[in-house]
Amino acid sequence: MFKKTVLITGGAGFIGSHLSQKLLGLKYQVICVDNFITGNLDNIKPLLKDNNFRLVVHNVSNPIEVAGKVDFVLHCASLASPIDYLDFPIQTLKVGSLGTHNALGLAKKKKAAFMLFSTSEVYGDPLMHPQKESYWGNVNPVGLRGCYDESKRFAEALTMAYHRVHKLDTKIIRIFNTYGPRMRHRDGRVVPNFIDQALHNKPITVYGKGKQTRSFCYVDDLTEGIFRLMFVKAVEPVNLGNPGEFTIMQLAKLVIKLTGSRSRIIFKELPCDDPKQRKPDISRAKKLLDWAPQINLEEGLKRTIAWFKV
Ligand code: UDP
Repeated sequence: MFKKTVLITGGAGFIGSHLSQKLLGLKYQVICVDNFITGNLDNIKPLLKDNNFRLVVHNVSNPIEVAGKVDFVLHCASLASPIDYLDFPIQTLKVGSLGTHNALGLAKKKKAAFMLFSTSEVYGDPLMHPQKESYWGNVNPVGLRGCYDESKRFAEALTMAYHRVHKLDTKIIRIFNTYGPRMRHRDGRVVPNFIDQALHNKPITVYGKGKQTRSFCYVDDLTEGIFRLMFVKAVEPVNLGNPGEFTIMQLAKLVIKLTGSRSRIIFKELPCDDPKQRKPDISRAKKLLDWAPQINLEEGLKRTIAWFKV
């Protein structure tokens, strides 16, 4: 049987490894390109035994060369946690700009379809709520989050230019807060932080007053949306996320309840430019993909907590 080949940059990361696993299960050939700056070999160890899986250790901010045919390039590589992009702002800007350029160049050379993994951060601290794809955003280019937000905005512009100039089959997904197994214990993002703190009965660190909101999508719902989009013509960006909206305080209390933790809640300074609210309008994804998240926050947290306990 003719097997399609999917190259995933950042394939050893949290989302990339779940996607690799899903595609291998559906008998695709997967080429994972990762330099392990935030990816983790443990995420893909079970996949290395699969003959359809190939690992290329490489920093995609440098030109990417792979032998053989490639049908899809999924550009997932990114430093996606605020603590990582504060530690590595230049690498963050490089992978969003040079990395996207290299991934697009590879897709062009291989005549492959291309998908950019962009982010809800392109909306910045949004003045429109919920966020529709038509909203242009409210981003501080010179703030601490600027390295991430602006590199993704540049990446979107570059993707559109390749589509317009080279007629590349391109897609852009804007991923809202996603969580699940394989997030690092010290990831820095709110769900793994709270779970790790709760399981160790350590104080739960709520930043600011905890009134800011986020919408949390379980990783399996996200990878299903990504998979469906691979086979649909959609040049315009598509929001992928769970529209259920929670304050960070509600999340803290839910994690304490589900872990049965003795942790207390403490308050820390709100990071610079921390968005006050975030909730995707997913009408476009629903219409295009007949997709909506199936796993609610409580169920997703239970599954994630079970994984963190092992
Ligand atoms: N946050 C928090 N405590 C933590 C980590 C994060 O209160 O230990 C807050 C953070 O200030 C933000 C929200 O949780 O308002 C989500 O943060 P995260 O880093 O997960 O992602 P973001 O959506 O900000 O990129």
